[in-house]
Formats: sequence, structure tokens, C-alpha cells
Amino acid sequence: MKTATTIVRKRLRVTGVVQGVGFRPHVYNLASRLGLAGFVLNDGAGVVVELEGPPEVVAEFVTQLQAAPPPRARLDAVEEEEVAPAGEDAFVIKESVPGAAATLVSPDLATCGDCLDELLEAADRRYRYPFINCTNCGPRFTIIQGVPYDRPKTTMSSFAMCPACRAEYDDPGNRRFHAQPNACPACGPSLALWDGAGKPLETDDALGDAKQFLFDGLVVAVKGLGGYHLACDATSAEAVEKLRSRKYREDKPFAVMARDVAVVRRYCDFNDDELALLTSEKRPIVLLRKLEPCHLPEAIAPRNRYLGVMLPYAPLHHLLFDDDVEILVMTSGNRADEPIAYRDDKVVEHLAGIADYYLAHDRAIARRVDDSVTRVFRGREYPIRRSRGYVPLPLELGRAYKTSVLAVGAELKNTFCFTKGSQAFVSHHVGDMENVATLEAFEEGVAHFRDVFDVEPAAVARDLHPDYLASRYALATGLPEVVVQHHHAHVASVLADAGYYEGKVIGVVFDGAGLGDDGAVWGGEFLVADLAGYERAAHLKYVPLPGGDAAAREPWRMALSWLRALHGDDALKRPLPFLDDIPEGRREMVLEAAAKGVNAPPTSSMGRLFDAVAALAGLRNFINYEGQAALELEQLAAPDEEGAYEFSYEKGKPSIIDAAPVVEAVVADVRAGVAPGVIATRFHNGVAAIVADVAAALRDEYGLETVALGGGCFQNITLLNKLVPTLEGAGFKVLIHERVPTNDGGLSLGQAAVALARLEKD
Ligand code: ZN
Ligand code: ZN
Ligand code: FE
Repeated sequence: MKTATTIVRKRLRVTGVVQGVGFRPHVYNLASRLGLAGFVLNDGAGVVVELEGPPEVVAEFVTQLQAAPPPRARLDAVEEEEVAPAGEDAFVIKESVPGAAATLVSPDLATCGDCLDELLEAADRRYRYPFINCTNCGPRFTIIQGVPYDRPKTTMSSFAMCPACRAEYDDPGNRRFHAQPNACPACGPSLALWDGAGKPLETDDALGDAKQFLFDGLVVAVKGLGGYHLACDATSAEAVEKLRSRKYREDKPFAVMARDVAVVRRYCDFNDDELALLTSEKRPIVLLRKLEPCHLPEAIAPRNRYLGVMLPYAPLHHLLFDDDVEILVMTSGNRADEPIAYRDDKVVEHLAGIADYYLAHDRAIARRVDDSVTRVFRGREYPIRRSRGYVPLPLELGRAYKTSVLAVGAELKNTFCFTKGSQAFVSHHVGDMENVATLEAFEEGVAHFRDVFDVEPAAVARDLHPDYLASRYALATGLPEVVVQHHHAHVASVLADAGYYEGKVIGVVFDGAGLGDDGAVWGGEFLVADLAGYERAAHLKYVPLPGGDAAAREPWRMALSWLRALHGDDALKRPLPFLDDIPEGRREMVLEAAAKGVNAPPTSSMGRLFDAVAALAGLRNFINYEGQAALELEQLAAPDEEGAYEFSYEKGKPSIIDAAPVVEAVVADVRAGVAPGVIATRFHNGVAAIVADVAAALRDEYGLETVALGGGCFQNITLLNKLVPTLEGAGFKVLIHERVPTNDGGLSLGQAAVALARLEKD
């Protein structure tokens, strides 16, 4: 039996997202309420708590901490250890201890309800202050320069807190206790308004003036958390067109930011899952179905049934909106394909000729981080770009590895990934690694992650393609290399995303291009694979890819390559309408290249087949952004058309899927005047049907019941909607992405998973 005088002391080691989320004040308040003595502190591995008091009260503390942690915290583990009582009678918060930096850095968090109330409360000392925040909200990853996460290691270090802010910061009972970006109008960052040349304007109402400019239809660059946005009035077709032409972005959809949910409801249809993502503290851009008709200019997202929508996530955003300004285009502040501008000393140079004005401020951005883009598929998140609000939270791999690796990703939509133990730190979206600026952003990002998460990779994983800038970077690290075939990495990414370690699956990977192990350009692949290896079980039959990379930008080339595959030298005998705007000389040139195999490597790309069908159906011969032809083909597909074009299938090692009958049927339909929407639907139906057929054949052959779907083509929701229920109906377990994108943005996770599996085997 215990006596009332029994006193124990326990040391708790808490890991997870426990820094920068109000964890220490929470612990302080709980311990004080329970009358326990001891301390709490941050160190490089997380949080350490020591508690002294009666054993049942100490146990009660642990129970309550686990049952109700601070809202933004995530507890991965609480380890307990008994230590000798120290005879203390008070609970204190101790200084942070710098150390091995394995702690989890919080992503940026949208303004919380409490801060929003204060922002709009005239009597509050932070009334309409655009940098209000607390331990439950505000910038994190984008201001962090090192760990542990304390003010001197952030871009707030140059602002000295005024007495009122300091008192909040030091008061364990306050919502701003150790809120590192804590600030107020007296001591914190302030707004500035610059003209198009970057010259500061004399004004005492930068915000009001910027709003007036937006209302007048001008383009204003607005400094956000991870970079500058280009903003304009989303209800003005003229403003949207102006932004498009200045940005050299003809068709690629713009995202919009709406004042609140009620405004979103006026333009889009959404369900509870989509609403939950829209209003989550991550505040991603969520793809929502446009209402029909949608009373926004078509130029925002041309020929697209979906609109990328986000809600305000920084206090400055909330202040941009009122009854006059309800919805703004908010697109990344960059020119064409460059990385998003984030440095005040460079932004004017980067956005010259695009922005009429700049709404800037003096809190520096440490890290360039784009908005995340996501959507919901069958009740689950299906990410398109995983960045702000998500990064740098690690993905749990579900298996602890002894070694760490760095995976450098691929060329397009690049991300990189560090692993440590059972966690994978997939980076923010770096972008298309096709220019020096993006390569520099990549290198900076890798160095920062390595530093913040204190990782020493034992190996570097890279794509089989040796000429990708990321691959060259991998080589230059001097680390042992693990070379991963592109489509194998896609399958592995699905498996790692799902935490699937049960052995081989039927991996179906459809994308634009990846180097195959036979030197051909792959992209319509059925790989029987696990994390360590793969066998190419089936693929689309090769056709020449005339012009190589140029074929991806000019879908008519693939259409012509297919006509040649069908009709040989007679390919141009009965020209189809899509060739009307292609000069005759160029047609002949492409045909000849295909015939001779000059700069026309063989390809099994499903992405290019979508392109060919889009071109044949008269949709477009040239694209303005990656995947545009396929996306527009998807947008045309109608749910009620049941016809399907049939692929032929020849069993073998590997089995060959021939799209020739499909293309033949498309050509016949085009000649018969069948509507493009019907052609698009029949094509989607045909692709879904052949995947189900081949999967069934491979199940018989290999005895596998699980199908993993990966690669950029599976961003196509129409295809997924047809395919997933069909596969499930046939008894398959279907794995699709949930935590990283199915496009190449998810590739680094797959490369890392392959490397870990191979290193573990050795
Ligand atoms: Zn807050
Ligand atoms: Zn202050
Ligand atoms: Fe890919």
C-alpha cells in the first residue's frame, strides 16, 4: 500500500512534432495544475519532461498529455524512465539545449481562430496587424534557419521584442509563450508598398493602397509565407488576361484565393472531405469542381472543369479581402518555369514587367516554399504537389532502417528525400530541374534539410537517366550510388506511401517518360515488383517518339508516328484535319525521322498515347504546359458514353499491349465525325479495360492479388474513377497514393525506399 508521502520522479522523452507548437506551455500548465514539480525543455531530439510528485499524479499527467496534446502537436512516442527525486517543489521551463538535431520542425500553420479574432478586434493591440501569430499558428519552416527552433535561429532574429511582446513570450500561461515569430506593430515586421521598379511609395496605408490597385484591375505581387504571389482580381477577365500575357503562361490554370467558404460556394461544388482540406491548418490549394455555369473568367482555368482554390492562410491574406475584394487570382510569383521569387533583393528583377506593384514586408523568407495542391479521390487525399503546410513533416515508413539515404528525385516536379530511421523527409516542391536557378534551389534545399535534420546519408539514390541534373548532382556527392529505374521508383513510391511490405505487387505505371533498362523511353509499364527489384511483365508496344522531348511538347508528332505505325508510307494519303496547320515539309520530316529512327527513340509511353489521341481528335497539336493535351482530353470525357476502344494483347515475356487497334478506331471515329468528347470517353474506357485485363492475366501468371497504380497519368481522375472500382470488383486490392503525388513529385520517396530495401538486403 502506498503512503501519502511516496514521491517519485520520472523523465519523459517525447518525440514527434513537439517544437513550435505550444508544447512547453501546455506541459507547464498541466504540471502546475496537477501540482507536480520538475521541468520541461526542448533539445535536439524533441522534448524532455521531468516530473516529481505522487506516482498516481505523475501517471495522470502522462494520461492527460497523451489524451489531449496541444492542437498542432503530434506525439510519436513518450518514453518513461524513473530517476531519483530531486526534492524540488516547483515546475519550470528550462532553456533549450542544442544537440543532435533530430527534432521535427513544424510546417507553416494557417492563422488560428484566436489570432483571427484579435486581428479583427478594434481594441486589440494587434488590430489589423498583418503579422499576428501565436504558438498555434504562423510561419515555421519558411523562417527557420537552424535548430533547435528558437528565435535566434529564425528570420525574426533581427526584431527585438517590445516589453509587451516579451512579457507574453516569457509567460508560460500565455498563448504566445515562446511563439518564436511573436511580434506587434510596435516591434515587429511592417508592410511596404513598392512601385513596379521596386521604389518604395510614400504611404501610411500600404495595404489599403494595394487593395485599391487590385480593385482597379492591376497586378500586385504579394509577399506570402514561402514566396511572392502574383495577385489580381479573379472576377475581371481583363486583369486575368493581362497577368497571363505578362507571365507568358497561356493556358496553365491559375489558383484563386477566396475570402471565405461562402465565396467558394458561389463558384465551386465541394463535399465535406474537400471542405476539411480547404479549411485545414495546412491550407492547400484544393481542386474543386466548377459550378456550371461558373461566373469566373474562363481564362483562370481554360477548358478545365476544376478550379484550384485556397483560403487565406496568413493574416495579410485575411486583410486583403473585404466586401469589394472577395476572390483573387493568387499564382506563384515567377516568370514561366522559374522557381517562385522569395528574396526581396531579387523579386523586382524576377517579376519585372509582370507586377505593377509589390506589397512587401521586412520579415525575410528563409526558404522558398510553394503552395501545396491537392484533391480528394473517393474520400481520401490524393496530393498533386506536397509543399507548404505539409513539409517538412516526415512520412512514417512503418519500418525502422539502420542507414539513412538521400534520394535526389527526377527531372520534372523535382523533390528530394532524406530518410532517418523509420522516417522519410520528402522535400518541398523544387520544380523542373531544367535551369540553373532550379538547380541552385535544389542544392540549397538539400543542404538545409541535411543540417536541420542532422542526417548523414550512407548512399544516394538517383534515376537511371544519367543526364538529369539531379543525377549529376548525385554523382558529384561522391556517395555510393543506388541507381533506380524511373518506373520502378514509381511503384516503390506507391508501396512506401501505403506502408506496404508484403512482397510483390502488380505495379501499373503510366507516365510521360522515363529511361528504361533497355535504353527505350518507357511509360506504359506493368512491373511485377517489390521495393528491391522488378520484372517488366508487360508494356505498351514501342512506337518511334519523333523528336524525343520535342514530341512531348508537340502531340501531333506522336499522332503522326501512330499513323505511320498503322499505314506505313501511306500515312499521309488521307490526311486528317489535325494536320491542317502543320506545314507539309514538317510532316514529311517527322515521318522520315520515325522511319529511320533518327532522334526517334522507341517509346512505350502512355502519356504520349494520350497526346496522340488528343491530337487525332483535333484537340491540340502543341501544348503550353506539361500534360496539357492529356488533361484536356480528360476534361472532355463524358460519364454516360459506354463504348470502349480495344487494345490487343499478346502474351509473352514481357507481354505486349498494342494500341494500334485503338488508334485505328480513333481515326475511324474522327473520319465519321464522332464528337471529341465521345472519342475521349471511349479512349478512357479502353485504357481502364486493358489495365483490368492485363492485371487479371498477371494475377493468373504470378499469383498476385495487389495492384499499385503510379505515374503522372494517374492524376487523371476520370481514368481512376473507371479503373479502381473495376479492379476492386475483380477482387484486387488496389494501392494508390495518399501522402505524396503520383507524378514525379513522389518519385524521390520511391527512390529512397528502393535504396533502403537494397542496402538492407546486402
Ligand atoms: Zn494563433
Ligand atoms: Zn511587440
Ligand atoms: Fe514519371
